[in-house]
Amino acid sequence: MDVNLQFLGAAHCVTGSKYLLTLDDHASRPHQVMVDCGLFQGLKELRLRNREPLPLPVADVELVILTHAHIDHSGYLPKLVRDGFRGRILCTEATADLLSIMLLDSAKLQKEEAAYANKKGYSKHHPAEPLYTQTDVEHMLPLVETVAYDAPVTLLDGLLTLTFRDAGHILGSAIVELAVQGAQQRKQLVFSGDLGRYDNPVLFDPTPIATADVLLVESTYGDRDARIEDPEAELVRVVTEAMARGGVLLIAAFAVGRTQTLLYYLKKLIAEGRLPQVPVYVDSPMGIRVSDLYPRHPAAHRLGHGNVFDFPGVRFITEARESKGLNSKTGPAIIISSSGMCTGGRIVHHLFNRLTRPQDTLLLVGYQAEGTRGRRLQNGETEIKMFGEMVPVRCQVKQLEGFSAHADRSELLRWLGQFQAPPKRTFIVHGEPAPAEALAKTLREAHGWPNVEVPDYLDRKVLFEGI
Ligand SMILES: [Zn+2]
Ligand SMILES: [Zn+2]
Repeated sequence: MDVNLQFLGAAHCVTGSKYLLTLDDHASRPHQVMVDCGLFQGLKELRLRNREPLPLPVADVELVILTHAHIDHSGYLPKLVRDGFRGRILCTEATADLLSIMLLDSAKLQKEEAAYANKKGYSKHHPAEPLYTQTDVEHMLPLVETVAYDAPVTLLDGLLTLTFRDAGHILGSAIVELAVQGAQQRKQLVFSGDLGRYDNPVLFDPTPIATADVLLVESTYGDRDARIEDPEAELVRVVTEAMARGGVLLIAAFAVGRTQTLLYYLKKLIAEGRLPQVPVYVDSPMGIRVSDLYPRHPAAHRLGHGNVFDFPGVRFITEARESKGLNSKTGPAIIISSSGMCTGGRIVHHLFNRLTRPQDTLLLVGYQAEGTRGRRLQNGETEIKMFGEMVPVRCQVKQLEGFSAHADRSELLRWLGQFQAPPKRTFIVHGEPAPAEALAKTLREAHGWPNVEVPDYLDRKVLFEGI
């Protein structure tokens, strides 16, 4: 059997994760399997790739295996179905629950963006069209099948065995192990997906993997350490400073994962008296639905059963009217909203209102990709374009990078160090060029790993011939 791999995304960038695995046993038509099926996000030149056709007839893809539900790993699925995909989609149980929430939201956001662009007439596409609709998502969801962690499943009549291992990145996130059975040999492919952090209070550590012939590893933080010594103390410091200014602390948090981690810490710190009992508004409909999933998947996190994110003073805002009502709130108060990179969702109207208020504080708690509004705010830009107009930034802008859901450089090396022997071939993916190259260099030079490559978009690699 021959095995090829093509990089359809997350090569020299962090979004658009899509890997096309081709298994050709010369007995039938080659089998096409995709690992992850994500949207490109951020820079326009990247987002335009979402509109380019894939380099194969979509109907030929038999399987899609998902590492996790983040849109940069799953958000292209409805488009795949719209274009003719009718195969199986395999993921963990919690990922399946998250998918229905996140992809319906993604379809809604695209519809709103297209409508807004058309109304303002500032789109270069006339008229702007959403990439897919809610109907496409509804056609896609029945194709999803769930697989438990650590339970191998045999696919493609025994040619492929899939095992999900907990990646500790978000609820349901997985490392994908694929054993390819050739006529003579069996080969082990490992896709790290996005790796989480060690000693996270909510999620488990990334599962160690002992062997791989071929490894794809993410490199979001491949060139730097982003661990804060004491996240609780840092959060206490930022919240206390923001409250002392008498303003509102607006926290831009991803609805999935970061919002729940923040709620875990705020609940604990308020209960311990280390933070005053200020009103906490969770203004993220998706964040609320995601929080409600945790008790349904007690094996996928450390918090156990029950209503784990409820505490005195917290209010979960669902109605748009209530959300708008928060605009008149003055401090002290905390508003947690999304999206985490400030690109869409309810955070946008909060930013539009609060960026101009010197007494308010904006806290960015996640990775801010190139080209996003969050990255521009992180870089200290003094004016931000919103709703087609320039808004001056007069509020405080703070960043707590240690709350990232991604393993940092040391943690990546810790996970990589658990392989009993270096993989025969390693591809560094899911990182901007500098961190990806830095991780490759470290593995080659400091760890002596052979055949470490940083692939480019659409690169096609022959993994095995005649196995
Ligand atoms: Zn992710
Ligand atoms: Zn990712």
